[in-house]
Amino acid sequence: MIAVLEGNCPLKEKADVVQMLESEGFRVQVSQTGTESLIGVIGEGAARLADRLSAMPGVKDVRPVAPPYPLTSRDHRPERTRVKVRRVAIGGPEITVIAGPCSVESEEQLLTSARAAKKAGAKLLRGGAFKPRTSPYSFQGLGKEGLEILAHAREETGLGVVTEVVAPEDVALISEYADMLQIGARNMQNFRLLSAAGEQPRPVLLKRGMMATLEELLMAAEYVAAAGNPNVVLCERGIRTFETSMRGTLDIGAVAVLKERSHLPVIVDPSHAAGKRELVPSLARAGIAAGADGLIIEIHPSPPDAMSDGRQSLELEAFGKLMQELKPISKAVGRRLGT
Ligand code: PEP
Ligand code: MN
Repeated sequence: MIAVLEGNCPLKEKADVVQMLESEGFRVQVSQTGTESLIGVIGEGAARLADRLSAMPGVKDVRPVAPPYPLTSRDHRPERTRVKVRRVAIGGPEITVIAGPCSVESEEQLLTSARAAKKAGAKLLRGGAFKPRTSPYSFQGLGKEGLEILAHAREETGLGVVTEVVAPEDVALISEYADMLQIGARNMQNFRLLSAAGEQPRPVLLKRGMMATLEELLMAAEYVAAAGNPNVVLCERGIRTFETSMRGTLDIGAVAVLKERSHLPVIVDPSHAAGKRELVPSLARAGIAAGADGLIIEIHPSPPDAMSDGRQSLELEAFGKLMQELKPISKAVGRRLGT
């Protein structure tokens, strides 16, 4: 931890800070920049003094030297983590595309989507069986029946399945059926859910809350890791800003920042950021160009009939076309998409 003192901090105040820290058993190292005095606090557990220190006269700022998310930070693990979902490694040289409908609606709808996803080169299948909906009157998902349909689609296509869990009490059931658990934007800071996902063996796809900072996202990932599950993939899916022409604002810089701060793979969800299918290809291209390890894209055999997120769902053919367009972009950034 480092305390930054005001440039004109009187000697007495500086001495008081040093004395307080030493009386608490810490070693202190004082240095001077052009305008500020820096006091390095050396010793285990210094963070507990942060509030007391920042309230002392002359103290301008108190900064941790290490981020508060040790397991997800790159500080202690500079090499990148690859998260395995069945035979698919997210975070390796290959770009992983996860595709499928927003919600599982029927056997036919999901299988048609799954076949098209596979044919186009997607490596994993998405589909919500438990849906977090803004309105209690909207379609809430097929529940367990949806999970069974997902399992059937996996059997037929060989694609691993990613599906959302909205409540801690559903974790065990979903973990039985799914290959990867999705924790959605609305639940990013549901700490009991994060811990429960950390206590089961499936990898976790953690979406950024629509009003969450990147540090909050990394702290949420830390909950999963701290509970025993290091296999977390981070997902930028658009945040709330003053801009209203899209459903969210895709924070493309987040990809670069997350990859700098964390060893975990990062993927982009262009569908929920765009909110309109015609904008999805541009955001998907931007995600790969920015260094994302993959994409999660909503597709539907008949978007106007979709029970959720039809407006942003790509038709199956359009998805195939997009996958072709993404290949040269992946190559340009030193990655591979499909075979
Ligand atoms: C979804 O993936 O369908 C979803 C609800 O996403 P988000 O949590 O990002 O809104
Ligand atoms: Mn959706």
